[in-house]
Amino acid sequence: MSEKKDILYVVIPCYKEEEVLPETSRRLKEKMEKLISENLISEKSRVMFVNDGSKDRTWDIICDLHKENSLFSGVNLSRNRGHQNALLAGLLTAVNFADMIISMDADLQDDINAMDNMIKAYYEGNEVVYGVRSSRKKDTFFKRFTAEGFYKLMKALGVDIIFNHADYRLMSKRAVESLSEFKEVNLFLRGIIPQIGYKWTTVEYERAERFAGESKYPLKKMLSFAFDGITSFSIKPIRMVFWIGLIVFIVSIVMLVWALVAKIMNFSNAGWSSLMGSIWLIGGIQLLGLGIVGEYIGKIYSETKSRPRYIIETILNKED
Ligand code: UDP
Ligand code: MG
Repeated sequence: MSEKKDILYVVIPCYKEEEVLPETSRRLKEKMEKLISENLISEKSRVMFVNDGSKDRTWDIICDLHKENSLFSGVNLSRNRGHQNALLAGLLTAVNFADMIISMDADLQDDINAMDNMIKAYYEGNEVVYGVRSSRKKDTFFKRFTAEGFYKLMKALGVDIIFNHADYRLMSKRAVESLSEFKEVNLFLRGIIPQIGYKWTTVEYERAERFAGESKYPLKKMLSFAFDGITSFSIKPIRMVFWIGLIVFIVSIVMLVWALVAKIMNFSNAGWSSLMGSIWLIGGIQLLGLGIVGEYIGKIYSETKSRPRYIIETILNKED
């Protein structure tokens, strides 16, 4: 193990988590003290709770924790902005003080003992370490089915995401600074972070059940999160319109020929051929037109995100 001790910040978004915070902070305090005594992290390391505009006692608890022990720090958002935004707020605040940042949920569903392996991987030169669930035994069938289906759909749509990785991950200072170059407002961190690049690896862990309180991700939020993920990273749905248009257009030509043949052979009703032909033709042209407009919208959409076109990892240059 390397001699240097880097500063670790653990960033935790919290929305109405008054029920879990006392236990979460107790377990994390133990963990951090152990990591510090094992000389794995600096004693300047912190646990940073981000209060995502909770109306309950979440922020009061965070303030008390901070008063009691400087290990705990807090960030208070002006209102509820959602998990991803709260997480980003924490990452971009912590990056000013930390060498490495681990993000995790307040309910400790992510096994905090995986932190050891993440930190080890960081010292081995990895800039992003993704926590990956080894199994979903504890999930309900419904959650497992929808979540795994979602990862597969994303892959099929050409989005680069890590299978069964949620937002439990370690990032180096440099990786978080690169993340800040992504200016998009519709945040889907699991899709953005693989785009940063750098050396990365995964660490497996067993995901537990939420130990208190209830999920802050009801089905409605889950669906809108999934939809956001797809529409923020893929213009394949727009392209599909174009291809459907093209197919309908080709079918319309076949139909036209068929209608004409039927007319000549004299086995069609009056008006049938022209009606059939024009319905297919107009439908095809409309879809094709829509697809072309969609292509341009897709371009505008990626331009407006103004994502960085590249991130340089190293420069070798000797001046003089
Ligand atoms: N969270 C948040 N803002 C929200 C919803 C959730 O900061 O609007 C936080 C929440 O406090 C927790 C994490 O996001 O730390 C994940 O939420 P939860 O555990 O409820 O999701 P699940 O594990 O059920 O998917
Ligand atoms: Mg949870």
